[in-house]
Order: sequence, then C-alpha cells, then structure tokens
Amino acid sequence: MIEFKNVSKWYGSFQVLNNCSTSVNKGEVVVVCGPSGSGKSTLIKTANALEPFQEGEIWVNGVSVGARDTNLPKLRAQIGMVFQHFELFPHLSVMRNLTLAQVKVLGRKEAEAQRRGRELLERVGLSAHVDKFPGQLSGGQQQRVAIARALAMDPVAMLFDEPTSALDPEMVNEVLDVMVDLASEGMTMMVVTHEMGFARKVADRVVFMDEGAIVEDCPKEEFFGNPEGRSERAKQFLSKIL
Ligand code: ADP
Ligand code: MG
Repeated sequence: MIEFKNVSKWYGSFQVLNNCSTSVNKGEVVVVCGPSGSGKSTLIKTANALEPFQEGEIWVNGVSVGARDTNLPKLRAQIGMVFQHFELFPHLSVMRNLTLAQVKVLGRKEAEAQRRGRELLERVGLSAHVDKFPGQLSGGQQQRVAIARALAMDPVAMLFDEPTSALDPEMVNEVLDVMVDLASEGMTMMVVTHEMGFARKVADRVVFMDEGAIVEDCPKEEFFGNPEGRSERAKQFLSKIL
C-alpha cells in the first residue's frame, strides 16, 4: 500500500533522509521509532507529499508520490494523517470538523457527511460531544476527533505522528485503544510512536531510524524478542525507553 524506495531528502546540505526503503502492506501496522531528530516525522510526511524528497520513489496505492502529474489533493485525501498536536479547526464544532473535508474534497452531500460523522464519533466514543468546540474537549477527546476526522475521508491508509506524546498520561490509553481497534479492523497504518506497549500489541513490523537512515526493519517478534540481534543504536534506544 505504501512503498519507500531509496528515498533521500536534504534540507540544504543537511541530509535528513538517507536512502530509506521500507513498505507497509495492506492491513499491516508498521511502528516507526528512533531518537528525536532521526527523521521519523519527515519520513511519514513524504508519504502524503507534505514534505518533498529529492531522490528515490514513494508509491501509495499504486500512485507515485513524486511524479509530476500526480494529483496531490486526491492522494492526500486517500491517506489519513494524525499529528501530535490535534490540529482541529478551533472555530468549528466537532461535527463541522468532521464534515468539512467530506463536503469540500469528496463532494459528499451535507446529510451524508453528517451521517458518516456521527457513525465515526460513535466509533471513537464521542457521540455526546457532537456540538462542542475543540476547546471544550480534553486532549484525548480532541485526538479521537482528529482520528475520526481522518477516517471520514475513507482513507486507504493512516499515518500517525506521535499521536499520544502531547497527551496527559491518563489520556494516552483512550487514544491507543481507538488505534488498536482500527488495527484489528484491518486498517493499514504507519505509526510513529514511543509507546512500545502498543508496538508489542499491534505492530506487524518495527522500523527503527537513526540519523535519517532506517537501521532496523523487522517483525515485531524479532525486534522485541531478540535484543541481542539488534544494532547498537537500537539497543541503546530500547534500554532508555523500555
Ligand atoms: P523526528 O521526527 O525523528 O524527531 P524530524 O523528521 O522531525 O525527526 O527531523 C529530522 C531532522 O531534520 C532533525 O535534525 C530536524 O532538526 C531537521 N529538520 C526538520 N525540519 C527541518 C526544516 N524545515 N529545515 C531544516 N531542518 C529540519
Ligand atoms: Mg517527529
């Protein structure tokens, strides 16, 4: 569903991605971890063209992201993205947050968009908050709305960039639970997170990045079950967060 082939990217003379190759198959959950500044956010943002790259290829659902004739709005509509900071529209109600892009980008009728919005709010456990504004919700609730908003576009895959790292600890699980459900329903997911409990539970594979390079890309059983087989950098990283 998502394939990175020898992707490199520079900011001026600084190489932020170094020959990165990996893939996320349909229905797979890939967790991306690694030290701060290693290029995790940059990597996943290249997949929906939020960040350009200079070398290599990225394919999403059969479409080449870097190709000049690729319809980027259409591509972006196919991939849901959830960030660390919830990035809901603060001046719009929860329901309007959920319906806006459905109507504007997908051309859905308002009534249909609202029906889908209600369905998704129910799924993330927020039916009671449909008319509230983001500022009236807790961080965990806002992040669940952000997930619902992304799902409203019927994406073929979901990208998450540290979706729980800005949350108070007691709210982390309500967001992870929604993600676990999504994974079990077969959603294709690429998740940057340091939540190794989540990785152990739902990841199919773990990608470990360091200094812009993919240093490890292996099945979760291998990543967690065989610490001796890991690179020095991954061992160091794991020893700090586990
Ligand atoms: P991570 O998500 O793993 O913490 P990032 O992908 O955010 O890492 O950043 C990787 C590196 O690229 C960092 O060293 C960061 O300082 C640098 N970087 C990120 N964005 C820019 C930018 N717009 N211009 C220059 N350097 C950047
Ligand atoms: Mg980041």
